[in-house]
Amino acid sequence: MPTSKEGMKLDVTILGSSDAFCSGGHPHAAYLVETDRSTFLVDCGPTVLLALKQQKIDTASIDFVVISHMHGDHFAGLPFLLLEYIYERPRTRPFFVLGPRGITARVWALMCALYPDVLPETLAFALDFIELEPEQPTTIADVEVHPVRVPHQDEDVSLAVRFTAGGKRLFYSGDSPWDDRFIELARGVDLFLCDCTAYEEPMGRHIQWTTLKPLVPLLECRRLVLIHLGREMRAHAAELGVECATEGLKIST
Ligand SMILES: [Zn+2]
Ligand SMILES: [Zn+2]
Repeated sequence: MPTSKEGMKLDVTILGSSDAFCSGGHPHAAYLVETDRSTFLVDCGPTVLLALKQQKIDTASIDFVVISHMHGDHFAGLPFLLLEYIYERPRTRPFFVLGPRGITARVWALMCALYPDVLPETLAFALDFIELEPEQPTTIADVEVHPVRVPHQDEDVSLAVRFTAGGKRLFYSGDSPWDDRFIELARGVDLFLCDCTAYEEPMGRHIQWTTLKPLVPLLECRRLVLIHLGREMRAHAAELGVECATEGLKIST
């Protein structure tokens, strides 16, 4: 056992708990994770700057971003974050974007559509992409990133990700329908952030509460928090007996 607090921190702040529709007036997917040596975002929806500033989080504190998949509600905040690092919080230290294969081209295509005058050579900092392959763990700073492909998309790759830092573990489902591997992947983790977009009506390739409810007793995680909440889930959130994410919630594992 460690004798000091060093190597023990993995705190998660919910920045955006909604689905693609900002249901209930909540921001898009984004989570701030703080470990002893790293501060990073998990997903970066288009409302990310709004959420960071509402939570009074210094955007300059972010070391890197991990993107689960390239749907707009999960990565379309990146051009705004990069713009922040050009104009509002000028950055010189490198910034890293980790995400599924193809993310480098997709982010630059998005940047080109939104701010065509921003080019790699005009940035005052190194913007480095790390394309993740399913089942091939990567380590960045003190964080091990273990991506797993989930059946949310067919051609593009959607990832769930298990993070390990200082002996603490976080499992993030990303967007996904229920996958029986989640039982194993969530076993023993300190926090499982689990898609639960729909209540009882199926909504695309996502988890719905009526599917998840009987499986909750099988999840051997220390804490379960439901995320990516759609309109009906939000309306029922208080009565489920399972914690639902809301902005500003800070979870210390
Ligand atoms: Zn989504
Ligand atoms: Zn999605």
